[in-house]
Amino acid sequence: MARAKPIYAAQLAVYQAYMEGTVPGIASNPALFTAINKDSEEIWFELVPFDGGLAQRMSDRAVRVITATEAGELLPRHATTPTHFECKSCPWQDRCWRPA
Ligand code: SF4
Repeated sequence: MARAKPIYAAQLAVYQAYMEGTVPGIASNPALFTAINKDSEEIWFELVPFDGGLAQRMSDRAVRVITATEAGELLPRHATTPTHFECKSCPWQDRCWRPA
C-alpha cells in the first residue's frame, strides 16, 4: 500500500496518530487496509503498523501548508498542468490554476 498509494499510507498514519483519544489502541495495533482490484475483483488485505515518523512528517507538512496559506504565500503545485489526473478531480482546481 505504501508503495502503490503513498497518499493512503500518509492518511492512515495521521489517523492512527490523532485518533488514539477516540479509538484507544489505534496506534499500537496495525490497521487493516483493504483494496479491490477493479480489473480482477481480487481483494487485497494488508496489516499496516503505525508509522510515527510518517505521521509526524505529514503533520509538519500540513502545518507548513496552513502557515503559508495564512501568510498569503503560494506554495508550488505538485503538478505542472491543470490536466494532471489528480488536478482534474480536485475541488480546488479553479482556484489553484486561476491566473494571478
Ligand atoms: S488543482 Fe488541486 S491537486 Fe492540482 S495542484 Fe492544485 S491543489 Fe493540487
